[in-house]
Amino acid sequence: MFIYDSVEKKRRLLEPISKNTVTIYVCGPTVYDDAHLGHARSAIAFDLLRRVLKALGYSVIFVKNFTDIDDKIIAKMKQSGQSLEAITTFYINRYKEDMHALGVEDADIEPKATECIDEMIGFIQSLMALDVGYVAEDGIYFDTSKDKRYLSLSGQKMEEETLLARVEQKASKRDQKDFALWKFTKEPSEPSFSSPFGQGRPGWHIECSAMIEKYVASKQGHYQIDIHAGGADLLFPHHENEAAQTRCKGHHQELAKYWMHNGFVTINGEKMSKSLGNSFFLKDALEHYDGEVLRFYLLSSHYRANFNFSEEDLLMSKKRLDKLYRLKKRLFDAETMSIDEAFKEAMLEALSDDLNISKALAILDEMISNANEYLDANPKDKAKKGIFLANIHWLQSLLGIGFHTPLAYFQLGISEREKQEIESLILQRTEAKKAKDFTTADAIRHALEIKGIQLMDTASGTQWERLN
Ligand SMILES: [Zn+2]
Repeated sequence: MFIYDSVEKKRRLLEPISKNTVTIYVCGPTVYDDAHLGHARSAIAFDLLRRVLKALGYSVIFVKNFTDIDDKIIAKMKQSGQSLEAITTFYINRYKEDMHALGVEDADIEPKATECIDEMIGFIQSLMALDVGYVAEDGIYFDTSKDKRYLSLSGQKMEEETLLARVEQKASKRDQKDFALWKFTKEPSEPSFSSPFGQGRPGWHIECSAMIEKYVASKQGHYQIDIHAGGADLLFPHHENEAAQTRCKGHHQELAKYWMHNGFVTINGEKMSKSLGNSFFLKDALEHYDGEVLRFYLLSSHYRANFNFSEEDLLMSKKRLDKLYRLKKRLFDAETMSIDEAFKEAMLEALSDDLNISKALAILDEMISNANEYLDANPKDKAKKGIFLANIHWLQSLLGIGFHTPLAYFQLGISEREKQEIESLILQRTEAKKAKDFTTADAIRHALEIKGIQLMDTASGTQWERLN
């Protein structure tokens, strides 16, 4: 497989540290609020990576952390009067619910920052022993001048002023580029941990370096893990600082062999921010659209591209997914046979090229239209139907789509109350037909059509679906 390494800025052949296992660490959310579309995009991008690697025969160890100690969480504690644990447990559960709705699988390891405090303290002690960490007025800092390769990861060649504007301004630091490893407690009411250097809490960057070392790092060789991933906004300063800490602490080991970053999300052309009141939160989007429809939409453009979310594009994308379900519907009497190997190979070849989803979906479109053409000419070929069905089943594990029954899929977005109304009208129509009152029966069909509901009379009774 080839992946685009955002540090070397080129496509590189993936050669894992240990032949058949790929270790991936993705920076997870800070759990003080609901997940937004940016979280969804990142989660889906690397969920796809994981699924493709598995389909290629690798075993994958996938780690995603939860940052459960942070300034924003403390601010939320003050504002809500709730405990740290109550807030973080609530939002971790909410994050997981949202991700499950999108078909994003849980990570193999999901460490919380507060579970790794000892490891972070140990990490900081090692940096101090090597004279890379120093004590300042408000905390322990990383001395960036001690890392000859600092800024090599993100390739930042910014004007000094720009750089200063982006890093925390602290008077007590030796250099403005230096960053906090440990923050001393400001107010006694804040959550804090005791450490050899005083009461306080860890900085954000140290978290990922310590967790990687604790859970997945290869202790030999040049690299600790294969792939480190996250949103493009994390490259600097977060990933730059993680890499610097790890490089300076242990025998000049590099944190990751490959770095992958996903693009930003904008909404209707505007950069996503909380001030925009338009479906910023994933839970709001999930109220209006089915998780699989949303997943397919977020999946359908390349992970590195910036993504502009618009309802119009989402509905176009749904029409594309509809085609898969129209085919699945035609296969209702089929039994799964073995997959079409040529289709499988073509899909994997496309996705092995840095997750080329456009190409993969074009191959999928072609499979669907070829299958429809074939079924038009040979409606009774059960063996072939079984192969088409197997293709669709395989897509469930590869892309995380195709799970609904066609009936359920084409009724998505209809509330239970509306469903009951429709069913009751269908019953009235059936009675009218029995009584040979075709005027009433036609009137009911027509009334439902106006509401966007189409009826289909089949051998097993009348079925219905949404027209769009
Ligand atoms: Zn991180």
